Amino acid sequence: LPSVVALALLAGQAPAQSALTTDDLRRADALLAQMTPAEKIGQLNQPFYFKLPIAGFKADPVSYEDHIRRGEIGSLLFLTDAAEINRLQKIALNESRLHIPILFGFDVIHGFDTEFPVPIGAASSWDPEMVQRAQAMAAEEAWHAGLRWSFAPMVDIARDPRWGRISEGAGEDPFLGAAMARAQVLGFQGSSERPFLATLKHFAGYGAATGGRDYDASYISEEQLQNVYLPPFRAGVEAGAGSVMSAYMDLNDVPASGNVHLLREILREQMGFHGFVVSDAFAVGSLVTQGFAKDPADAAQRGAIAGVNMDMGSATYLNQMKALLDKGQLPTSQLDDLARPILATKYHLGLFDHPFSDATGQTHSEMLAKHRPAARLAAERSAVLLRNEGHLLPLAKSTKRIAVIGPMGDRAEDMNGPWSLTAKGTDTVSVVAGLKTKFVGANVRFAPGVQLIKEFPSSFDGMFGPKPETPWSAEEAEKQWKAALDLARNSDVVVMTLGELAAMDFEYSSRSSLQLPGRQQELLQAVQALGKPVVLLLFSTRPLDLAWASSHVPAIMDCFFGGTETGNAVADLLAGDAVPGGKLTVSWPRNVGQVPVFYAHTASHKPYDSPEFTSRYWDLPTSPLYPFGFGLSYSTFSISNLRLSAKSSPVDGTTTATVTVTNTGKVAADEVVQLYLHQRYGSGSRPVRELKGFRRVTLAPGQSQEVSLTVGPKERTYFSAAKGSWVTEPSDFDVWVGDSSEATLHESFSVLP
Ligand code: BGC
Repeated sequence: LPSVVALALLAGQAPAQSALTTDDLRRADALLAQMTPAEKIGQLNQPFYFKLPIAGFKADPVSYEDHIRRGEIGSLLFLTDAAEINRLQKIALNESRLHIPILFGFDVIHGFDTEFPVPIGAASSWDPEMVQRAQAMAAEEAWHAGLRWSFAPMVDIARDPRWGRISEGAGEDPFLGAAMARAQVLGFQGSSERPFLATLKHFAGYGAATGGRDYDASYISEEQLQNVYLPPFRAGVEAGAGSVMSAYMDLNDVPASGNVHLLREILREQMGFHGFVVSDAFAVGSLVTQGFAKDPADAAQRGAIAGVNMDMGSATYLNQMKALLDKGQLPTSQLDDLARPILATKYHLGLFDHPFSDATGQTHSEMLAKHRPAARLAAERSAVLLRNEGHLLPLAKSTKRIAVIGPMGDRAEDMNGPWSLTAKGTDTVSVVAGLKTKFVGANVRFAPGVQLIKEFPSSFDGMFGPKPETPWSAEEAEKQWKAALDLARNSDVVVMTLGELAAMDFEYSSRSSLQLPGRQQELLQAVQALGKPVVLLLFSTRPLDLAWASSHVPAIMDCFFGGTETGNAVADLLAGDAVPGGKLTVSWPRNVGQVPVFYAHTASHKPYDSPEFTSRYWDLPTSPLYPFGFGLSYSTFSISNLRLSAKSSPVDGTTTATVTVTNTGKVAADEVVQLYLHQRYGSGSRPVRELKGFRRVTLAPGQSQEVSLTVGPKERTYFSAAKGSWVTEPSDFDVWVGDSSEATLHESFSVLP
């Protein structure tokens, strides 16, 4: 065993057992023995199924049908129509020589018929069980359509809100990220009745894109990679994830999809992953344009050497591998190694026995009816209350005139969020619709006030999501602005619905600013100046610049994109029928100049005796606007009486921290108890604090509960750059327990040699 693996074992981070059984592998080998090289190469090929030609991509002269007959398609992505899936599957089973079924994959990111909150929203619930249930429902919906594989969960740690794909992960923290990764893998893959495959993506470091620009290179030290970026992947592998997607971008100047260190040494040797690796879209072919491979043949060879089993989209394996084999540049044994886990996975999923979709015309509405209640609850549990001066929220049910103002108020489709490519906007409840249903006695009226348009600099932008709207004329804009202010004047409360379009928080959707796009900030200030009570509901996934709002607008709630039931969930929350209990999963910057800002940084003082002489800006505090782990409730809580099970522990021992949590307010509500740990000295400088335990609890008014969280060797182990290995060191440790990363309740203990 390499020393890193041995140390990981010692620390209790045992590499996972393969989800594939020996029987799956035996059957795969028996099949391989019958296959021609071309058929084996076919299993590594995953084309996109596009009905429409896409600018920039050359049409394949061979039809899907003919490719399938020749055994040249192992998997297809982007086909979600059940009838078409069955038609193509029949060709594979009846007309190809070896009758190997196609594995149909798709981006089932946060729902399929029913949308659940976007992943960063779902993670803000700090409720892994809920997240697991949501992904189980998403898998069930997709399964009926004939899909057996989702390209999710996305588990990239993201510390830069300029990056649009911050929406798809669980935020900045490796411990929370690991919990959410595990929950999602268990959710997707948990049903024996409807076997389904999860993908951990994008391996690895994709979230650290330079400047927050999607696809840009990442530069990450080995220590940061192991301690920050890889824990969610490790947790997902341990939970049995059957596939991993290799990222597109350069990691430390080596493309992730040709990266032997990442894909062989770390993923397979250190983490013990035995499933198959699919490249991100076109990433094998792109090894050429990235300035890494000489030509497509070299790209195919280097993808294979790195251990990318399946080529998504680029057909480089399909077109190049036969020649590589013939020239002796790719041994047959290596081709077998690439194909084996793909075939074994098909057996594992029961695809040979149950290859078809069973969806009927009814399935979509049945799934929706069945899953709406869970989607509503998920959206409620995800919302984060950031401000509530004077207890403006919840609104009195007797409120008579409610003005909903702002462009997001009636945009049902956008409430589904990015990567909701199969759910229908017409099934989704907008904020206005939800409020009208809830506040039956009230006059709920809506005015957008301003228009929100994403500029589409390339044809790719228009591929997903609505096409850009026609901009209002100057007269129309003036009329709409005035109508919104008039409506606000004639209301008892104004609910401002601001944020970003779903297409602004997406792949290829990085921003250089965190301002509310368009004239939304201006509108907010104009409405606030009227003196009415104002509630700001934010719909976006990246933190936006709330520097002004955070001290002027009395109530602010981040609703993310809540999915199909957004409007009903928001209405429940505004009416007090649901109580917000979500917590931020990213530190909220004061403005874009603070980026990256994250709580788990290392100490940064210059001289030891003057702690104020520290890393800072002279024009802005170093602290974020809202800390990681922060979120308010309609109730109040006290967390007190922190005690540790012992003041010292052996290296392999555990320490349990117990606190008393009391609901000191007037309504039943949830609190998320969070434990942070700090190692004072060791072979490397450790972060000033790191999340190492949490639990969301529900308490009735006046009710108290003891909450215990345990830290052991697993929580204390880290990858030491100095040692080049995992270490679990004797040291002194600080423990804080509280309701955010700024918790002050403190104790300490020692780990003895
Ligand atoms: C994205 C992946 C996605 C794939 C297939 C790529 O552009 O980076 O996350 O799974 O497309 O849709």
